Amino acid sequence: MAEHDQYLIQREPFYQPLAQEVALYQAAWDERLPVMIKGPTGCGKSRFVEYMAWTLGRPLITVACNEDMTASDLVGRYLLDANGTHWLDGPLTTAARIGAICYLDEIVEARQDTTVVIHPLTDHRRTLPLDKKGELVEAHADFQLVISYNPGYQSLMKDLKQSTKQRFAALHFDYADHDTEAGIIVRETGLPQEQARQLVKIAETARNLKGHGLDEGISTRLLVYAARLIKRAIAPRLACRMALVDPITDDAEIRDTLYHAIDAVF
Ligand code: ADP
Repeated sequence: MAEHDQYLIQREPFYQPLAQEVALYQAAWDERLPVMIKGPTGCGKSRFVEYMAWTLGRPLITVACNEDMTASDLVGRYLLDANGTHWLDGPLTTAARIGAICYLDEIVEARQDTTVVIHPLTDHRRTLPLDKKGELVEAHADFQLVISYNPGYQSLMKDLKQSTKQRFAALHFDYADHDTEAGIIVRETGLPQEQARQLVKIAETARNLKGHGLDEGISTRLLVYAARLIKRAIAPRLACRMALVDPITDDAEIRDTLYHAIDAVF
């Protein structure tokens, strides 16, 4: 299979648009502008990128960033094998060569010296220097860089530099409104509408506690987990404790508050 084809999304992902993001992304793509997608975890950022890659018929290469990631993990490295050394492109280099959308998920997690390797790809140069190999890769005309960024995690140590931020157009994401989010749960899991609404109600209580003991509210992703457990005949109260509350807090008081919120709904 051609390298390009291997990264194509085979089936249309379900994506429920929340505002103008599809048209805005399309325009950014037409201009090959680098795009930053901001928003809390589990609100649909990755799903949206998959959907856009499918819509545009472009291959998608996703990299989950972490603090141990080095520039070589993105760009590539020499490997030693029985036949000697050979160069292996990293995911960013592959994307630049084949004209993929490269999605760097949670870019803030990566160290700043890793982040700067994207700079020459995000301005008029559209190049990627492979210093160790002595090659300058000219990005394919269809290459596009997309990063996700959770402003909630922002801290002095972990924030993008202005020189990085100012290379992107940004789309701001948040959890969908009540009816839309319930609709997403129904569509993703087949849970009845009424129960989906009850799940969203619990999430809304938790989201109001953000900044008052909770760093993040309950994500749409966790609501989908709870719905799947309920579909497996787990009692809703237990499913909600397992999927919605216990993963997000270690604080006994907050946990009790959320358990009460569940008991009030189910
Ligand atoms: P993020 O990348 O923001 O952390 P994801 O895109 O992985 O979050 O979304 C988590 C899950 O939430 C998805 O797998 C999907 O089930 C659901 N989801 C959230 N928003 C949407 C949406 N707008 N359309 C379809 N599914 C969504």
